[in-house]
Amino acid sequence: MASRLFAATSSQGKLRDFRTAAQAHNIDIAPLPELSEIAPPEETGSTFLANATLKAIYYSQSAPGRLVLADDSGLEVDALAGAPGVRSARFAADAGFVDSPDANDNTDVWNNMVLLQRLAGVPMEQRTARYHCVLVAARDGEVLQTADGTVEGMILEAPRGTGGFGYDPLFFLPELDKTMAEIDLETKLGLSHRGRALEALLAKLDA
Ligand code: IMP
Repeated sequence: MASRLFAATSSQGKLRDFRTAAQAHNIDIAPLPELSEIAPPEETGSTFLANATLKAIYYSQSAPGRLVLADDSGLEVDALAGAPGVRSARFAADAGFVDSPDANDNTDVWNNMVLLQRLAGVPMEQRTARYHCVLVAARDGEVLQTADGTVEGMILEAPRGTGGFGYDPLFFLPELDKTMAEIDLETKLGLSHRGRALEALLAKLDA
């Protein structure tokens, strides 16, 4: 297998998750050098797999010969039939909550507020949820392998903690008795749905 994978992301957080999982496999994860010059594709899929696939095909066509890794991820809440799912980043925007152009970015705050609203009255034992990441590896427009990774939790009735991002202050890990926003970085890296997806992908590529 190639010893370098080019991730179609410039997110330092995602690269850190991928690199942590890749260490044991002696695989180098680099950001795709061409990324900043390529207009991003529209994520029109209705599943993580569809979006990750369209990104992997698209970016690998723009970077001939490179083994390209594309991801899509988000939060799935069982009591909401898997929502927000592929709409995780835009959950509140879909409900009409958008910042005015001169305001700071409050997307995460709005998203968490809408999530709490949708789950109002749902008892704790029914608030099961997971972070889910799907990864697709492609070269020259051809999909080579797909894999996914999850981390299971519950959605609290009020936020806790100041770390992390996105839905982390509401995402509770029963076995640690903490939210994702309350755990240290090392613990978080060990639990990452992105890291788990990459582990699964590397195992398949190895085989
Ligand atoms: P992306 O497609 O991987 O960028 O993730 C889409 C959205 O899912 C993010 O904007 C977050 O709202 C949510 N999300 C994905 N991964 C995480 C995570 O590890 N913690 C908190 N929220 C996450």
